[in-house]
Amino acid sequence: MLYTITLNPAVDKVIEIAGTLEREQNNKIKKVLYDIGGKGCHVSAVFSALGLPNIATGFTGGRNGIKLVELMEEKNIKCEFINAGSTNTRECTILVDESNLGSYMITESGELPDEKAYSELILKIQKEINEDDIAALSGSPATGFPKEKYCEIVKTLKNTGAKIFIDARDEYLKEVINLEPFFIKPNKYEFQVLTGKKLEKTDDFIEEIQRLNEKIEIVAVSLGEEGSIVGVKDRGVYGFTPPKIDVVSETGCGDIFVGGVISKYYLKKDIEEIFRFATAISASKAAHFLSSDFSLEQTSKLLPLVKIKKYK
Ligand code: ATP
Ligand code: MG
Ligand code: MG
Repeated sequence: MLYTITLNPAVDKVIEIAGTLEREQNNKIKKVLYDIGGKGCHVSAVFSALGLPNIATGFTGGRNGIKLVELMEEKNIKCEFINAGSTNTRECTILVDESNLGSYMITESGELPDEKAYSELILKIQKEINEDDIAALSGSPATGFPKEKYCEIVKTLKNTGAKIFIDARDEYLKEVINLEPFFIKPNKYEFQVLTGKKLEKTDDFIEEIQRLNEKIEIVAVSLGEEGSIVGVKDRGVYGFTPPKIDVVSETGCGDIFVGGVISKYYLKKDIEEIFRFATAISASKAAHFLSSDFSLEQTSKLLPLVKIKKYK
C-alpha cells in the first residue's frame, strides 16, 4: 500500500478575478473553484491517477476537513484522516486575475492537532503500516508543531520497516536526516538551507548529495525548470532535464515529482525510468494552473524528451 501522511493539509480556494486586480476597486469574481491542498494530498493525486492502491492520512478537522475529503474522493483517493480535535482544516486562497502577472497566495498557517489525534496517528502507523508499504511524509506541520513529535512520527514509520519518502524543509528536514529516511527531495533553496552552503556549480551539489547518500538511499535535489540532480547510494549521481514547457504555474511541481518517483519505484522500475517519469509528469504539472493538475497524455509525450546524464 502507498500511504501519504499530510500533517497540515488544506482546501485551496482559487478565485479568478475579471480584468486586473486593483486596490480600492470592486474586483468582480469570474469564477471560484476548490482544489486539494497540502503536499501529501498532491502526491496521492498522482497515485490515484495511475490507479495505484493508496491511502491518504494525516490530520483534518471541521467543515474544511469534510470538504477536503470530498475533493480527494473526486480524484478516487481513499481517505483515512484522523480528526484533529476542535480544529478546522486550513483554507488557502489563491487570487488570479487576467493580467498574466502570476497569482497571489494567501495561506492560513493551520491549527495544531490535539494530543489524542497525535496518539491516534502514531497508533494507526504502528497497527496498519508494514514493511511492504511505502509512506510519503510531505509538507510541514502546522506552525508550533514540535520537532520532537515530527521525529517521533518518522521513527514510528521507520520501526514498521516501510520505505519512507520525505519532502520537508528547514528544521524538520534537518532533524529527519539523522533518522535516515529512504528518500528526500529538497528543492534548491531547501538544499542550501540544509547544507548551510551557497551552492552554485553542479559539482558542489554532487559533492553534498554524495555526502548525504552515506545515510540516505536516494537524494533528489530539484532545480525547477533546470530539472534535478539525483544521487543513489552505491550507484552514482544522475542529472534529469525536462523539455521546455509553456509554464502556467510551477507551484506543486515538487509534489507531483515526488508522486511520480514513488509510483515508479512501487512498480519496481529502474532509476532512469523512475526519474524520467517524475521529470515528465512534473513538467506537465508546470503546464497546468492547479497544484494537483497534470496530464498523463502530455506526460507520455514528454517522456522521450527528458535528458538524462550520468555525472558519477
Ligand atoms: P513545490 O511547489 O511543489 O514545493 P519545488 O520547489 O519543491 O515545488 P521544483 O524544483 O520547483 O520543486 O520542481 C520539481 C520538478 O518539477 C523539477 O525538478 C522539474 O523536473 C519539474 N519542473 C519544475 N518547474 C518546471 C518547468 N518550468 N518546466 C519543466 N519542468 C519543471
Ligand atoms: Mg520551486
Ligand atoms: Mg517542494
